[in-house]
Amino acid sequence: MKSPALDYVRVDSLSAAFDAFEAGDGDAQFLAGGHSVVPALNLRLQAPSLLIDISRIPELSGVELCDGWLRICAMTRHAEALTHPLIIHHAPLLCAAAPFVAHPAIRNRATIGGNLVLADPASEFPAAALAMRAEMEIVGRDGVRRVPADAFFLGLYETAMRPGEILRSLFVPPAREGQRVAFDELSRRRGDYAIVGAAIQAVMADQRLSDISIAFLAVGDRPIRAAKAEAALRGGALDGATIAAAQAALEGDLDLEDLPQMPASMRLHLARVLLGRVLGRLGGP
Ligand SMILES: Cc1cc2nc3c(=O)[nH]c(=O)nc-3n(C[C@H](O)[C@H](O)[C@H](O)COP(=O)(O)OP(=O)(O)OC[C@H]3O[C@@H](n4cnc5c(N)ncnc54)[C@H](O)[C@@H]3O)c2cc1C
Repeated sequence: MKSPALDYVRVDSLSAAFDAFEAGDGDAQFLAGGHSVVPALNLRLQAPSLLIDISRIPELSGVELCDGWLRICAMTRHAEALTHPLIIHHAPLLCAAAPFVAHPAIRNRATIGGNLVLADPASEFPAAALAMRAEMEIVGRDGVRRVPADAFFLGLYETAMRPGEILRSLFVPPAREGQRVAFDELSRRRGDYAIVGAAIQAVMADQRLSDISIAFLAVGDRPIRAAKAEAALRGGALDGATIAAAQAALEGDLDLEDLPQMPASMRLHLARVLLGRVLGRLGGP
């Protein structure tokens, strides 16, 4: 199937994007890498009358250190999460998550901003953003606001963004001394969407864990922070007893439902297995 007929405009500034959106009279949609929008159009799941291409707006491009944060602008491609020196150094969890997102051809075009705005609960970058305690910089006609990741993802494909707003960048607290990260997921085949995925970062000092954050994907309608498992790990050594306590605590973090293909009990079991794996990797070289 092919997309229904629509108008297309490419804009080169934020103000032109806002003008075009308003002219679209509620029936316009922004286009970034197009790897979610175009399939949705072709499958007739969406039918905007106007696509506004925001991929060439200079303010939406670049990666820089800014006021003690790493700022990753929305048009940064998924592939750059694997290659950009600032991301590798200061946002290692995003880098660890990137190989799990789709395939190289998609990673070369799709943007980190588009991925975050889409807010697919089975997506890797939203979970990484939550675990990194990142903030979204959102720009609209009325100005700029920053929303922490835990207040940005509101539900299934739902975020704190208002109609006509643009995600300008992702602000990430740079990795701390002694910080370790791990990301992994379980899927039926490599490259498939995950059955469950986990992103973790923690500081390891004197063999003790601190400053831990763990986020799961594909366990609900949004990425979920595992606060009880984090509490079970905090201050502990990375040994079998502590890991087992975190795995046990996970039941209090995840409110899993039965799916046609898998009961909730099996999903919880797999989440525990995965948590054990990512924790095991924190202790690695
Ligand atoms: C075959 C295939 C496999 C995939 N596998 C995975 C996977 O394993 N994991 C995964 O996470 N994703 C996967 N994806 C999705 C891919 O990562 C998406 O392209 C990405 O999530 C969206 O990025 P984009 O730049 O293509 O956005 P687009 O498709 O252009 O836009 C997505 C949505 O965000 C809006 N938007 C985009 N940028 C902005 C912005 N800056 N401000 C405001 N609104 C904006 C658009 O209006 C649209 O609603 C896959 C896609 C394909 C086609």
